[in-house]
Amino acid sequence: MTPFLRGPMGWVEVICGPMFSGKSEELIRRLRRAQIARQRVQVFKPVIDDRYSREEIVSHSEQRIPARNVHAAREILELMDPRTQVVGIDEAHFYDDEISSVVESLANMGKRVIVAGLDLDYLGQPFDHVTRLLAQAEEITKSLAICMRCGNPASRTQRLVPSEERIVVGGASAYEARCRQCFEPRLGQVELPLEERRAGT
Ligand code: ADP
Ligand code: ZN
Repeated sequence: MTPFLRGPMGWVEVICGPMFSGKSEELIRRLRRAQIARQRVQVFKPVIDDRYSREEIVSHSEQRIPARNVHAAREILELMDPRTQVVGIDEAHFYDDEISSVVESLANMGKRVIVAGLDLDYLGQPFDHVTRLLAQAEEITKSLAICMRCGNPASRTQRLVPSEERIVVGGASAYEARCRQCFEPRLGQVELPLEERRAGT
């Protein structure tokens, strides 16, 4: 069969793992390579707080790439240029449930879709819409950080500032990477008695 008889085929790549594992770095690396090869690239980032939303993705290692801010997954489809070949989506866990159908539509339009996001929340529970993306994907990369307690491979994000909110925006002062042995989900919860929290950290 002649290749490309049906036009270019799209697909979905997911990069998942805890905070500080290099998801944004890897996303930026893949997008830059596509840009160097003169492919048409569009990059999106969810806005959590309008006051601090710069139009770029910045990794913890200060690598950056311009990105369009969006408030909902559907906006990605609305803003899509038909000529775009590669779509980058960071912080997939921050989007609404519609993100999986949006990603599916883009891949079915023939675009290469690269999505990065946390697979687990601060309690170690999966983000359901990211889990769905993993099932949809043609290719999955699970990146690991280094446990800040013991140096083992870290797959969990430890919240250091107690809150019951599932989403609390913060960097190295609010979170650190931990392995499954050192991960203490109760530390991130407010109901932990003060004396235990003091003893734990
Ligand atoms: P993610 O998008 O997964 O949060 P980033 O790509 O933004 O990760 O940042 C990865 C960078 O974070 C690393 O290259 C390193 O400079 C830094 N970093 C900070 N803490 C850690 C850690 N515990 N393990 C590995 N890298 C870390
Ligand atoms: Zn550890």
